[in-house]
Amino acid sequence: MPTNHALEFPGGYTRSVGPVIGRFLSELRDGRLVGVRAASGRVVFPPLEYDPANGHAVTDEFVEVGPGGVVESFAWVGEPLASHPLDRPFAWALIRPDGADTAILHALDVGEFERGAEPPKRLKVGMRVRPDYLPAAERVGDISDIRAFRPDVTMITAPSRLEYDIKPGRALGRFLEGISEGRILGHRCPVCAKVIVPMKGLCPKDGVPTTEEVEVADTGTVTTFAVNNLPDPRAPQVPFVSAYVLLDGSDIAMVALVAGMPAEEARMGMRVRAVWKPREEWGRTISNIRWFEPIDEPDVPFDTIAEYM
Ligand SMILES: [Zn+2]
Repeated sequence: MPTNHALEFPGGYTRSVGPVIGRFLSELRDGRLVGVRAASGRVVFPPLEYDPANGHAVTDEFVEVGPGGVVESFAWVGEPLASHPLDRPFAWALIRPDGADTAILHALDVGEFERGAEPPKRLKVGMRVRPDYLPAAERVGDISDIRAFRPDVTMITAPSRLEYDIKPGRALGRFLEGISEGRILGHRCPVCAKVIVPMKGLCPKDGVPTTEEVEVADTGTVTTFAVNNLPDPRAPQVPFVSAYVLLDGSDIAMVALVAGMPAEEARMGMRVRAVWKPREEWGRTISNIRWFEPIDEPDVPFDTIAEYM
């Protein structure tokens, strides 16, 4: 969702994704939280290239943290706006996962309340919480793969919690419906006219609802990339390349694997095409696209993709 993107990754999710944030987002898609160890020994979460405490470069040691954590501070939102990640009262909370030395700002869903409700008594600093992920097939490698954090289950709340039904946003559901038919769908923003893929039902720049559906090509251009040296079950080999791919007809790059060439040949501006799994293996999941592979077209000049970084 746009609000927490903006707060966590200055520049929103078109920010160039280096190896550190790329790793964070890849792990997030797999349902894990990782931080990075700073030279001081502290674990910075979410990971950054530089220790926010002193500006020194961090080490290359990634550390799994959480999933449980503790609320360090919060602000109650009794009247959520259309641009907020939840449509019922919730809290913005600074949450420090166990094992991390810094906190992430994210939505905290403490249950069902009428609009305008006062914060519940059990919402307090020190409350134990854990992430509530979207179902694995719907995660795309961004911070909204965590729908919200939720309080740890207790004896008292267990029955209602267990009945809790997680639904993907309608827009994301529609995107996956398209993918299940071999089509890549996006939304055009009524304000800035940019095409957002996958659509979230909101423009991250303008915060307005989006509904106009457009189909985009399965070819695109690599805007930024990271070479990964740790094995990933989806990748064909190590090292492998994860990249932001700007699909033709879209204005926001999406995270994808790029394969079919040696990792050292990856470059910004490289033209790629989606490699789809055989049709009989398709489901309602983004992994219908196995990865992207280079196509025999000249690279796109840097100038023309610079604004999508
Ligand atoms: Zn817009």
